[in-house]
Amino acid sequence: MVERAAEVRVHDFGEVDLGLGPDEAVAEAARCLQCKKPACIGGCPVGIDIPGFLAAIAEGRFVDARARILEANLLPAVCGRVCPQESQCEGACILGKKECAINIGALERFAADVGEGEESAPTEPAPPSGKRVAVVGSGPAGLTAAAELARRGHGVTLYESLHEPGGVLVYGIPEFRLPKAIVRAEIGRVLALGVELRTNMLVGASVPVKELLDFDAVFVATGAGLPSFMGIPGEETNGVYSANEFLTRVNLMRADRFPATGTPVKRGSRVVVTGGGNVAMDAARVALRLGARVTLVYRRREEDFPARRDEVRHAKEEGVEFVTCAAPVRIHGEPAVTGVECVAMAMCDLDESGRPEPREVEGSTFVIDADTVIQAIGTSPNPLLVRLLPGAATGRKGNLVVDEDGRTSLPRVYAGGDIATGAATVILAMGAGKRAAAAIDADLRGAGRL
Ligand SMILES: Cc1cc2nc3c(=O)[nH]c(=O)nc-3n(C[C@H](O)[C@H](O)[C@H](O)COP(=O)(O)OP(=O)(O)OC[C@H]3O[C@@H](n4cnc5c(N)ncnc54)[C@H](O)[C@@H]3O)c2cc1C
Repeated sequence: MVERAAEVRVHDFGEVDLGLGPDEAVAEAARCLQCKKPACIGGCPVGIDIPGFLAAIAEGRFVDARARILEANLLPAVCGRVCPQESQCEGACILGKKECAINIGALERFAADVGEGEESAPTEPAPPSGKRVAVVGSGPAGLTAAAELARRGHGVTLYESLHEPGGVLVYGIPEFRLPKAIVRAEIGRVLALGVELRTNMLVGASVPVKELLDFDAVFVATGAGLPSFMGIPGEETNGVYSANEFLTRVNLMRADRFPATGTPVKRGSRVVVTGGGNVAMDAARVALRLGARVTLVYRRREEDFPARRDEVRHAKEEGVEFVTCAAPVRIHGEPAVTGVECVAMAMCDLDESGRPEPREVEGSTFVIDADTVIQAIGTSPNPLLVRLLPGAATGRKGNLVVDEDGRTSLPRVYAGGDIATGAATVILAMGAGKRAAAAIDADLRGAGRL
């Protein structure tokens, strides 16, 4: 895919990747071998008919390609942009073993974008079942479950605590990776199925849990938005953000346009971001676009970054400085941040994840000047609703324990996405929403244990 030049794109929030043109898409799709047993479908958590939509693109039937994807995935423009295809459908592509896997993500994005506005999805819901289902949380898991349940004829009420639906798609992933107009258009498709959306509704606070239990079934998809902190001295200093807060202010509340919008954010001229995942890369690249010099501190080596390779490359090209094998131990400054004290880390024996265990090198501290610190070292499941579900089985990380179809230990209560798995990916959350919707449908129709 063509990308905008780093020195240009770093000054705005416009999309970095420009997508494929029709000729490129046709040529790329034509490489598909149309395997009899397509491994790529097995690599897709929502089971898109990948060879089917690639064949349609190769024959120039772009709207058909889009329709084929929409049968399994109502958010293709989102997934085409943010899915880690390299470890899913593309990772399973047989061509990857010999030459280069088909660029399925770019083709999904192409089909989604090129046919936008030409509705071809089977949006006609089944006849009303007379059953009502509450879905809590409108991220990818909740949206997918809501759509699948509505398609099956159930009355769906979707509760969202924020003023806009979409979860991480709107508050976390920045505009330059995932334009919000695209997310809104795809959510519009879900709502068009007859899903009733209730925003500004924090279930467990503004909506009592009792109200939920009046529904025939409940799907909990409240995500993993609770930020972790390092627990080092100085974390309460002015100018220390969690990545979630920083990104929400800019992405959802458009703090970059303050005072035209009501939400400010500290822009910072020297920003230190801690962490090495996608969230850290996003926070660093947003801070760059707000005009800061940005240093990202990660305790392992660059090859150990959990972030997608492309995100690391983009961050580097745009000018994020990486300090690897180092960990923050103290934040300096009173009342506002002046620097971050770090210690060098040596890579030792492999840990259980197969990566070398980082250990502090004695006497190796150094200070990075900073006026802002953004912590992106992980998140855990949102605890509010979980605590209010009496007797629900929970895991070590505060996640709801579910079976493979999303059933919790409570009758009529299902869960999926990050609230069950801990922080994961968009497509895994969508797959969980899809499986749970099928289980809820089966149970509501009397085949299950309701
Ligand atoms: C910055 C960032 C970048 C990411 N980048 C990628 C990426 O490139 N690719 C990828 O695949 N994944 C990425 N992820 C991970 C991915 O976004 C998540 O795994 C996915 O969004 C989880 O979906 P979900 O529906 O379970 O939860 P969420 O998307 O978190 O949605 C949960 C929703 O529930 C709402 N909610 C919570 N509690 C309540 C309540 N009590 N009442 C009502 N509503 C409630 C929240 O407001 C939220 O809207 C990223 C995550 C972040 C934070």
